[in-house]
Amino acid sequence: MAYDPDNIFAKILRGEIPCDKVYEDDHVLAFNDINPLAPSHVLVIPKEAYVSMDDFTQNAPDAAISALFRAVGQIARDLGLAGAGYRILANTGEEGGQEVPHLHIHIFGGRPLGPMLSKGAG
Ligand code: 5GP
Repeated sequence: MAYDPDNIFAKILRGEIPCDKVYEDDHVLAFNDINPLAPSHVLVIPKEAYVSMDDFTQNAPDAAISALFRAVGQIARDLGLAGAGYRILANTGEEGGQEVPHLHIHIFGGRPLGPMLSKGAG
């Protein structure tokens, strides 16, 4: 799938719409999800244009991949989630339930999160 430069996270990266920023470095931006599903629900995105985890892991340089995952860990620690634990999730593609076509890693935490997927849904 070609990258759509008008997706909502591209607009956030360009400063065209606001976000509640929690972290930024040369490669990564992270902000609170507009519709949080847990007491902490942060979206971590690369600043470069990658549609999905599939695109990113095929085409991004090692420095960008390293930066994204190091940022995820740092943000979780900064939010105080590392001790009690947290969950990360990257919905990928249609069957993965991805809604915004710019790679994003969800960080959920702040309460017991329950099972990974709905029981009986497999
Ligand atoms: P996906 O389903 O693609 O994995 O997740 C997309 C996420 O983006 C959803 O959790 C949704 O609440 C969040 N989201 C959609 N639009 C906006 C927005 O304009 N601002 C922020 N902060 N989050 C958004």
